Amino acid sequence: MTEPVHIISLGAGVQSSTMALMAAKGEIAPMPVAAVFADTQDEPQSIYRWLDWLEKQLPFPVHRVTRGSLSAQALKMRTTKDGRSFTVTSIPYFTLSADGQRGKIQHRTCTADFKIDPILKKVRELGRIKRGQKTVGAIQWIGISLDEATRMKPSRKPWAESRWPLIELRLSRHDCLRWMERNGYPKPPRSACIYCPYHNNAEWRRLKSEEPDAFERAVAFERAVAFERAASVTKGLTDNFHSKLFLHRSCVPLDQVDFSTDEDRGQTNLFENECEGMCGV
Ligand code: SF4
Repeated sequence: MTEPVHIISLGAGVQSSTMALMAAKGEIAPMPVAAVFADTQDEPQSIYRWLDWLEKQLPFPVHRVTRGSLSAQALKMRTTKDGRSFTVTSIPYFTLSADGQRGKIQHRTCTADFKIDPILKKVRELGRIKRGQKTVGAIQWIGISLDEATRMKPSRKPWAESRWPLIELRLSRHDCLRWMERNGYPKPPRSACIYCPYHNNAEWRRLKSEEPDAFERAVAFERAVAFERAASVTKGLTDNFHSKLFLHRSCVPLDQVDFSTDEDRGQTNLFENECEGMCGV
């Protein structure tokens, strides 16, 4: 029986980048055969620049896979036979109902559709997994750190096994940053789609001041979401969500939000609810 191949799920943020560089230095064994990055085509330029740099430091290839543009898919309205409109892929928007109740989309599919599935497809190919295979042919390294251990989830596929090397080494996100510094590497950016509602105020501030083009794209995306939904209602279709959608937890349009406060400090890190460990690592 051939040994399973080891493959890194690369989010290209702090944790997964540290994990990949540790593997490159032989601090985590065995050497992975590859890393796979799933591109939603909506990451900030800092992530793409970081990936360009990172792949030059690694002795194994980084495969960039994509299902296309997540934002384009999230804006595509479909219609059910009985005239209700919906989108195939949903993002974890914040919601504001007509009677002023704030909430959140509970069932998001963006991570599964645009991160998990494309990565699994590539892992399957690299591990030469056969149809119907039940034995483990691939070990997927996931970059979850000790402080986010609640995000660990076993693989859904019988032919893949998840491994969490940073948990094995008892490393927190902060430890990862210190390891990078000790080894003379630059600080990795935080990975996530530019419009991800899981951003906290600090990340929105950073995006607005350091990558204003990306911030403007997020503002335009939020407006486009509202426009598409309004258009589907105008066409006589019943909107499936019954609420207004926002990218910021305050349910205020992004270009009007005051990010100067850290009002969200101490609140749950929303990426921790992203339990697959594919975004924000
Ligand atoms: S970063 Fe946010 S918007 Fe992008 S796939 Fe992950 S959860 Fe969805």
